[in-house]
Amino acid sequence: MLPTGSYEEFSDDDPYFNDDKPKEKCGVVAIACKGDLTSHMYYALRALQHRGQEASGMVTFDKRQKMKKGIGLVDQVFSEADLKRLKGNMGIGHTYYSIKVSQPENAQPFTLKAEVGDIAIAHNGIIVNAPELVKEMKSQGYMFTKSSEEEAFALILNDEMKKNNDIEKALQVVAKKLIGSYSFTLMLNGRVFAMRDPLGLKPLCLGQFDGGYIVASETGALDVIGAKLIRDIQPGEAIELFHDKVESFKIANSKRRAHCFFEWVYFARADSIIDRLSVYHARKRIGWRLAKEHPVDADVVIAIPDSGRGHAYGFSMGSGIKLSEGIMKNRYVQRTFIMPSQFLRDVSIKDKLNPVKAVVEGRRVVLVDDSIVRGTTMKTIVQILRNAGAVEVHVRIGSPPIIAPCYLGIDMTTRDQFIANHKEVKDIGKAIGADSLGYISIDGMVEALQIEQENLCLGCVTSEYPLPITGERERDQHTLDMFD
Ligand code: SF4
Repeated sequence: MLPTGSYEEFSDDDPYFNDDKPKEKCGVVAIACKGDLTSHMYYALRALQHRGQEASGMVTFDKRQKMKKGIGLVDQVFSEADLKRLKGNMGIGHTYYSIKVSQPENAQPFTLKAEVGDIAIAHNGIIVNAPELVKEMKSQGYMFTKSSEEEAFALILNDEMKKNNDIEKALQVVAKKLIGSYSFTLMLNGRVFAMRDPLGLKPLCLGQFDGGYIVASETGALDVIGAKLIRDIQPGEAIELFHDKVESFKIANSKRRAHCFFEWVYFARADSIIDRLSVYHARKRIGWRLAKEHPVDADVVIAIPDSGRGHAYGFSMGSGIKLSEGIMKNRYVQRTFIMPSQFLRDVSIKDKLNPVKAVVEGRRVVLVDDSIVRGTTMKTIVQILRNAGAVEVHVRIGSPPIIAPCYLGIDMTTRDQFIANHKEVKDIGKAIGADSLGYISIDGMVEALQIEQENLCLGCVTSEYPLPITGERERDQHTLDMFD
């Protein structure tokens, strides 16, 4: 039986901070065009707001480099006057998520007045060898102002450009020295570049619009400005953008890839296409597979909005149980701050998500979401559904249990925070108050994504990482030479 409901008309773009969820760090954009750069950049950044809501920034070039960055959402940081002042034909932009208290100086793009000229860098990812690299560079006499990974990049670039003024060679040296996940956009004296790490951990795509080219973290940023998706930037590839062409060059070889599976499961917008795979279709297939792996007798399937929608739709298709909108989201609630008491934590969740009594009362409900980190939010939502009259609540999750930290750019840093790290699935089900709980298996998810397992990063669900991480098991890489 096909689902009686459809979520096609809803956007899965979730611009709000959502606690007890993995948190992405950053979206990047680069544009080269003949005409109005700042409007294109502004809307592209807004389309990437879900990747970071702490700070936003833009650096443009028109005879000289100009910048505006600050704490806040894109539309809070940029005024009309800013966009006029930033007028130019080349630029890069950034939306920022921070695990620390927001500091204006952490906003990106990072800029440096170097000997070779003006450098601006926007980064999505984490350089895992940054502390050692910065230490080593300091011992060699490099002067840092922030000791950040972006500054290390800028100083290496400056050094290499001084030696031979060859950007291709310089970025190859950068790629050799920086180990980690990165999608960078870069501006050097008004020339605009983008580059992706050799494993392709973070997404990055190229689009063309009337009068220019754009690179962005997700295709959602291309769609909004009317750009056509040309292709993904390949792992280990850098490109230079011009208003009428792009030039590509290789900065690193890699024998395999390690795309972060969570991009499809949760982080990316449902309307994005990442590495040629529609995020929406991926979620739908995961939900379908979840229904086959964990069938249940129930009356209605509902999603936790917005993150569980694609999975719930797939679950409904796979199970034949009708789909309904059983939880309403208050779109006007923005930030949720850390709440000092359980009462306030519960209120803050109900403030954002409220059950539709008419849908759940007297019914056996299947509640579908993408992931569980601590389980605290899920527990409250299950209770809210029971209070609204649900006679049974069965929870189904579109990712395997998260058991290990992410060292590659997602804010999941300690094992203690994961409920699945210290409880069996049936005990997690009890802890969240569900009648039953089912997670998709790793095999099931890999099959649903239709990407070979060896080309995915599954570090947080397997404890095996695609890069050497101190104290952790490495998946299959033995030496850093594999990146030569
Ligand atoms: S560890 Fe998990 S969240 Fe981090 S990059 Fe790998 S798959 Fe993504």
